[in-house]
Amino acid sequence: MPRGNVPRQPSRSGSQEGARRKSAPLKGARPKRVAEGRPESRPSPKKPTSAKAAAAKKKSLSGYDPVAPERVKEIIAGLDQLYPSATCALTHRSAWELLVATILSAQSTDVRVNMVTPALFQKYPAVQDFAALEPEQLQPDIYSTGFFRNKSKSVVGAARKTVAEFGGQVPQTMDELLSLPGVARKTANVVLGTWFKKNEGVVVDTHVTRISRRLELTQQEDAVKIEQDLMQIIPRERWTDFSHEVIWHGRKVCVARGPKCADCGIEKLCHAADKTWSTVEIHPSAKG
Ligand code: SF4
Repeated sequence: MPRGNVPRQPSRSGSQEGARRKSAPLKGARPKRVAEGRPESRPSPKKPTSAKAAAAKKKSLSGYDPVAPERVKEIIAGLDQLYPSATCALTHRSAWELLVATILSAQSTDVRVNMVTPALFQKYPAVQDFAALEPEQLQPDIYSTGFFRNKSKSVVGAARKTVAEFGGQVPQTMDELLSLPGVARKTANVVLGTWFKKNEGVVVDTHVTRISRRLELTQQEDAVKIEQDLMQIIPRERWTDFSHEVIWHGRKVCVARGPKCADCGIEKLCHAADKTWSTVEIHPSAKG
């Protein structure tokens, strides 16, 4: 616990318990007078505003901009310090193995996938071995990762196309990768960033989605839109590292239910509504 900070529980209303609030004027109390002795002018009735206008007004009034470059820089620096050697947790020895492992990791865990892939790649060492299979033949080997029917089709389909159209080499461009069955931007970004060291996008998985929203780096829920938002504010050369660091943070500390905020190294930069412990103001709109 940082010295001098008194832990506070975020209240349901989203405002900080114990935080100072303007007290409402008492009924019948005389109007407050300003220094010149004139009564404060009565505020004009407020017109209803759209959520966007309200957000813009709030931003301009408070001066707080969650995606201000200085704030984003601080978040990146904090993550760098916390996870200096973060990388992809999926065991792999080649671009093909990483591609297969990433496909298998959908709706599963890296730990589970890492339990399956060593035997899988021993049984089928090359992409050509996968291309020669029928999807049904692969099912028993990847059954424990879940969604094994679809994943079998994706892996065999990706292998066949890689052999038929790319000479057995995993392609190195986003468009070509996206042409492979079962490969969407998340998988393509993992392969391009981790194996080929190309920052073509930000990996948006469940952890990146949740934490980016908690940190108010995006308000979006859709992975493609979240990625677009993040690509706007994270320097390109940091896209892959940022993804890995956030994913590690999501596994270790900023978990989905009951994030370990008291142990979080970037707690002071986070105003998430579902924090479990806070030394800063809570923002109701910052939700995972
Ligand atoms: S303070 Fe809590 S909610 Fe915010 S990033 Fe850290 S663990 Fe996640």
